[in-house]
Parts: sequence; structure tokens; C-alpha cells
Amino acid sequence: MTEREWILLNPGPANTSPRVRQALVMPDLCHREPEFFEVMRDVRQRLVASLGVASTHAAVLFTGSGTAAVEAAIASVVPPERALLVVDNGVYGDRMRRIARAHRIPAEVLSYDVTTPVPPADVARALREHPEISHVALVHHETTTGLLNPVEAVADVAAAAGRRVIVDAMSSLFGEPLDVARDGIDFVTASANKCLQAIPGIAFVLARRAALPALEGRPARSVYLDLAGHFTTQEQDNTPFTPAVQVLHAMREALLELAEEGVAARVARYAENARVLRRGMAALGFSILVPEGARSSILTTFRLLPGLTYDALHDAMKRRGYVIYAGQGQIRTYAFRVANMGTLTPKDMDAVVTAFAECLRELRSSGAS
Ligand SMILES: *Cc1c(COP(=O)(O)O)cnc(C)c1O
Repeated sequence: MTEREWILLNPGPANTSPRVRQALVMPDLCHREPEFFEVMRDVRQRLVASLGVASTHAAVLFTGSGTAAVEAAIASVVPPERALLVVDNGVYGDRMRRIARAHRIPAEVLSYDVTTPVPPADVARALREHPEISHVALVHHETTTGLLNPVEAVADVAAAAGRRVIVDAMSSLFGEPLDVARDGIDFVTASANKCLQAIPGIAFVLARRAALPALEGRPARSVYLDLAGHFTTQEQDNTPFTPAVQVLHAMREALLELAEEGVAARVARYAENARVLRRGMAALGFSILVPEGARSSILTTFRLLPGLTYDALHDAMKRRGYVIYAGQGQIRTYAFRVANMGTLTPKDMDAVVTAFAECLRELRSSGAS
């Protein structure tokens, strides 16, 4: 494959640098040797240091897709006899509810449509009404639509009620401001292949160290996704199962790049990417599904124009090297998604807009639109 064969406008896996991809090719390495321990220690340390929480938090790694970290957090932290409050305003909130159900964890659910952020007062009320709830689980950036939930305000409400929060920040950590050390937040989940700009295969839970001892000695709901087990072994330079050695090696390279760019600068680059994209798409007549004020700077859901189908637009964009992303479920019939994470720059986003303009001309002249 040639360099940057596709420009990925799907919300992860995102475009990576040649340097990160080349780090996948390395000498074969046994994960029970010091050369591997050094890489794992460095990745775990860089994750917490990049977020400014090296003294209070630990990163616990899982070989798996991002859902592995979400499932590990939910299955491991809700004590027996307690319950979970889940915020559901998209596919990933719904996934947290399904995870709780699969592990027979009682769950109360606050449901909203896919363009409505959770009102923190609703969380406060649910916590008052349900003393059995120990944790609140919510998605920071609902990748379903590009909607941001008010995580910090929810954390404040939970802390005031003596409860703790699990945040799925899979598609926003390092790409959108988030105070991971906010009181109330104990566990934040993310993966290598979104705003970290690394390769798919490793997910992680960023855990407040003070919240970890409570998990030890509890009967595990899962063998593979036992957070306490992974934490304890990783602290001893070990892993309970075979890790994705090469993926971790590339993840370290991505963390070096993140340190060079700086988290704040990356957040600013993504915001500028989104601004260029949205301004250009508005000029082409596209409107945005999520109301202003609730939008992330990482992904935009645009309404399809009359007569324009997702499949025709997708194929026309792909012929030009761009991969856009369908809406999930019913949304596919009236809207589509464009992410601007990864190595993309504002200049790339200008080219994306030009490609959309060409596609509209092509599809209109061929009568497909
Ligand atoms: C990508 C994503 C996940 C994890 O998806 P995987 O396919 O398991 O990597 C979880 N939550 C959110 C909000 C996501 O965007």
C-alpha cells in the first residue's frame, strides 16, 4: 500500500504517522523479558503523565478493542449488591447498559434522544431516588452523533451524593478538554486508535489509584477483563495474558508524538479541523444534526441533502481517497458522519471539503442526486 492510501474520516481507527506504523516492525520479543517490561512501563507512565495525573492515577492496559476497557471497568468496579446508573443517549451509552446486563449488574437508565446531552439535575434526582446505585456510567463524546455529555458537571453531582463515575472517553481523550482528575471521576476508558493516533488492539482504563484497593479480593465477574488482576500484575511488570506486543510498541511511539505535539495543541488542531470542515460544508448546504453548544470538535454528523444517499456519497468520496462513515441505525437514512481525528490537519480538511464539492457536482450531473 502507498503512503496515506486512505484519508480516514471515520471515528477511529484514525490515520497514523509513518513513524507509528514503522514501530510495529521490531525484533520478535517475549513479553516475559525485561525489554517488554520497559515498553509497558513507559506506556503506562506516559499515559498518566500526558494527562498530568502521574501521582494520583494508574493506566491499566488491556489487549482488545476499546470495548474491552469499558467492559472491564463496569464489570470490575460495581460492588456486589450495588447498582449502576447509565446515561444512554447513543449507541455507546446503550452498550454500557448492555454490558451491565450481561454481567447481571442492576442498572437504572437515563435515556435521551441522540442529540440531547444528559441534564446533570436528572443524575442528581436518580441518585437521590436510588440509594443502591454506587456508580454512574456515561460517555463523554457520543460517537453516534458527535454529542458531548457534561461529564464534569455530572461528576460534581455524583461527588456531592457520595457516588463515583465511570467515563467512556474513548473517542475524546486527548482530543477534547476533559478534567480526568475531577472529584467524582474514578475510572476513564479509552483506546490506542482514536485521538492517541496509534494502532487498534490496546484499550486502557485510567484509574484513580485511591479507588483500586476496594476492588481487590472481590469475586471477579470476568476472568479476562478483571481490572484488579491486570492492575496488580502490571504493577509487577507482568501481564496475566499475552499482550499485543507490537501494538504496544507502536503505542509508545504515538505517546512520544503526543508529548512532542502537546495535548493542548492536539485539542486545538482538532478544533481547527472541525471549524474548517463545518465552514466548508455549510457553504455546500449541509447542516449539522447536533445543536450548537453540545457538539464535539472531533466528529460532525451532517444531514444528507435531498436526493443524496449515503451510499452514493460514500462511494464518490472513496474514489477520491476519502472514507466517510454512515450514521448508526436509522440515522444512516438521513445523515452521515465525518470525523477529523488522527494526523489530519486543517489543510487536509480543506481538501476534504473540495472533495465533497466535487462529489456533489458529479452526483448531480449523473442524476444520482
Ligand atoms: C470507539 C468507541 C468505543 C469502543 O469501540 P471498539 O469498537 O470496541 O473499539 C467505545 N465507546 C465509544 C464512545 C467509542 O467511540
